[in-house]
Amino acid sequence: MASRVAVVGAGLSGLAAAVELQSLGFEVDVFERTRLLGGRATSFEVGGREIDNGQHVFLHCCKSFIAFVERLGMGGTLHEQERFEALVLARGGEKSRLRASSLPAPFHLLSFGAYRHLGISGRLRVARALAAAASGGPPGARVTFAQWLDRNGQDAQTLRAFWDPFFIPALNAPFDKVSAADALFVLSTAFLSDAGAARFGFSTVPLAHVAAAAAGRVSAIHLSTAVLGIDVASDAVHLRLPDDRSADFDAVVLAVSPRTTAKLLGSPERFDVRGLDDYDPYPIVDVHVWHDRGALGFDFAAAIDSPLQWIFEKEPGYVCCSISAAGDFLTVPTSELERVAWDELCAYVPALRGGSVLQAAATRNPEATFVPRLGATRTRQRTSNARLAIAGSWTDTGWPDTMESAVRSGMAAAELIAGG
Ligand SMILES: Cc1cc2nc3c(=O)[nH]c(=O)nc-3n(C[C@H](O)[C@H](O)[C@H](O)COP(=O)(O)OP(=O)(O)OC[C@H]3O[C@@H](n4cnc5c(N)ncnc54)[C@H](O)[C@@H]3O)c2cc1C
Repeated sequence: MASRVAVVGAGLSGLAAAVELQSLGFEVDVFERTRLLGGRATSFEVGGREIDNGQHVFLHCCKSFIAFVERLGMGGTLHEQERFEALVLARGGEKSRLRASSLPAPFHLLSFGAYRHLGISGRLRVARALAAAASGGPPGARVTFAQWLDRNGQDAQTLRAFWDPFFIPALNAPFDKVSAADALFVLSTAFLSDAGAARFGFSTVPLAHVAAAAAGRVSAIHLSTAVLGIDVASDAVHLRLPDDRSADFDAVVLAVSPRTTAKLLGSPERFDVRGLDDYDPYPIVDVHVWHDRGALGFDFAAAIDSPLQWIFEKEPGYVCCSISAAGDFLTVPTSELERVAWDELCAYVPALRGGSVLQAAATRNPEATFVPRLGATRTRQRTSNARLAIAGSWTDTGWPDTMESAVRSGMAAAELIAGG
């Protein structure tokens, strides 16, 4: 049926759909509102340096994202740990590592016993909750993760030293806003299924390079070209473009936010597209700091009791501090953010004390991720019209709003269009 397909949005979901469709023999045009490729996973220049829109990590269990990057010939630019290990810093600089043993899952977690930021009773509490997650039935759809943690005996100590540092960034929302089911999905996929699943990984090149490689695989990319509206008929798709232009295609993949999907479709229910109002956006703020103290000797570390949450050494002399669920920081002026970041960095990383900031920048993403409201059913990629498919990390992939979810949604949308 379709031979020319339009993809709206050049984030990872749109690009994954576009690359897949192109490889299946379709002619694909991608339309992107901004001048950048990669959407939320992009990079741009600040003061002559190319920086990411915000630090992104993935886990070894993010198979679709990893396969997508490999497919683009860029697998070698992904760095993955050989074994799950996270350095966790306390104020003052005290370090402890949370690491997996070489035993098979779930016994690999037994080495969490050496984690010094939790006392013995705290470690036992966490172990009991992990056991409950592994053996318990699914929590009700309206149970929040906060309620689940409370019911499973977690207290202020285990929250601060274990759940907050690992699960606030993974879920990017306060625990009373996330369903227990979604949080337990992450927990079981990353920590309980396979001993290697939670190994951290990150791109060693700016994220926009991955997007550029994807863009190089499709027929045409139209940057700075917002799609203003679409008409999906039974025999064609009509795109309304700026300057009174338009373009016709056989099919379209919409790979934008829930709100923009609703706006472009006009009345989404006509296409059996549901639940677009059932998502809340959550922000992430990153503070980028260049300093004169050289290499710090770690790739990344969590900072407990600090607003910074995670500190990544991007290269010697450049750290990126990532603040998830950052509602309180969105409106803080950049100079203040930079001051707080440097004070906190010096409090947690003794090697930085006495050093100087050479340059700093803040990146703010008010809509970094979309979290479905409690009890909501996530939007499917399939619509009632075979010429239209929906993609986006927020759609129903089973995964939280992540790069993995974005790629999965794009692949699913491409399959639907190809199946016509
Ligand atoms: C700071 C930050 C840190 C993050 N950290 C992580 C992490 O560590 N790990 C992880 O897995 N995920 C992380 N994420 C989430 C991850 O970036 C997203 O899940 C993923 O990139 C979303 O891809 P997408 O294609 O679904 O959406 P988007 O990237 O939002 O792409 C949508 C695209 O559509 C374009 N668009 C919108 N309207 C139109 C229009 N009318 N016409 C044409 N184009 C339009 C937009 O400009 C955008 O480029 C992070 C996000 C942020 C912002």
